[in-house]
Amino acid sequence: MAEQNFPTGQLMAGKRGLIMGVANKNSIAWAIARQLAAQGAELAFTYQGDALLRRVKPLAESVGSDILCECDVTNDATMDSTFATLKEKWGTIDFLVHAIAFAGKDQLAGSFIDNTTREGFKSALDISAYSFVDAGRRASEIMNDGGAMVTLTYLGSERVIPNYNVMGVAKAALEASMRYMAADLGPRQIRVNAISAGPIKTLAAAGIGSGRHMFRFNKAASAMQDNTDPMGVAGAALYLLSDLGLSCTGETHHVDGGFHAIGMPQEGPLRESMPD
Ligand code: NAP
Repeated sequence: MAEQNFPTGQLMAGKRGLIMGVANKNSIAWAIARQLAAQGAELAFTYQGDALLRRVKPLAESVGSDILCECDVTNDATMDSTFATLKEKWGTIDFLVHAIAFAGKDQLAGSFIDNTTREGFKSALDISAYSFVDAGRRASEIMNDGGAMVTLTYLGSERVIPNYNVMGVAKAALEASMRYMAADLGPRQIRVNAISAGPIKTLAAAGIGSGRHMFRFNKAASAMQDNTDPMGVAGAALYLLSDLGLSCTGETHHVDGGFHAIGMPQEGPLRESMPD
C-alpha cells in the first residue's frame, strides 16, 4: 500500500483492541490498524510464526504497540494464550478486528464442484469462518460492554466469482456467523459487523486464480471505475468500531467502489480494458 496519511483525531482514544491478520504492510488489517492508531487506539497484534514476527514487529512498534501474540487460529493453545495475554496486560478490551482467511491454492482455481475436497472445505471454513466465532467468543469474555467487532468478507459470498470457490462458501458462513454473534452480544451493546471489501492486492488475494483479470474487471465494472482503496476499508472499520457506528450491528457493509450495486456495467470502460 502506498504511504498515505490517515485522518488523525480522538475517536478511538481510551480504546484498546486486538488486530488479527497483519501479514505485511499490504494487509488490509494493517491499513485498519494505522487508521485506528491515528485516532488514538491502543493496539495488540497476532502473528503466525517467526517469519511473520519479523515483519509484524516493526509495524506494531511504528504504532506504539508492544503486545504481539503468536496465534494460529486452528490451535486452541495459541488462542488461549493470546486472550490470556490481553487479560493480563489490559484486563479488558474494547474491539476486535478479524482479517483472517485461508484456503489451499488447489481449492481456489477451476471448477468448484470438481475441485472442492472434504479437507479443503473443512479447513477453509475452519480458518476463515469458525475462527471469527471462536475469537469473538473469547474477545467477548474480556470486552467492555459497548465494544465492537469487525470481520472482513468479500462479494464471493453472495455471487459466483470465478476461482473464489470454497472461499465464497466460507465467506457466506462468516457473514451468517457475524449476524448470530451480533444477536447474542447485542444486549451488552457489543456490535458485530462485516466489511465486504473489493479486491485489494495482498498476499491472500495473490492466492486466487486469475487475479489480474479480477482487478481489471472490477476497475472497469464498478460504479466508481476504480479498484478499492484500503483507506476506504480502514475508514469503514473506524466508523464501525468507534462510537460513530452506534446502533449499527449485524451489517455487511460493502466498500468496493459500488461494484456490488451494478447489474450490468457501462460498455465503454469494459470495452477499453477487455477488448473483443
Ligand atoms: P493478508 O495480508 O494475506 O492477510 C490474511 C491474514 O490471515 C494473514 O495475516 C494470514 O497469516 C492470516 N491467516 C491465515 N491463516 C491463519 C491461521 N490459521 N491463523 C492465524 N492467521 C491466519 O490478506 P488480506 O487480503 O489483507 O486478508 C485479510 C482479510 O480480508 C481476509 O479475510 C480476506 O479474505 C479479506 N478480504 C480480502 C480482500 C482482498 O482483495 N485482498 C477482499 C475482501 C476481503 P499468514 O500469512 O501467516 O498465513
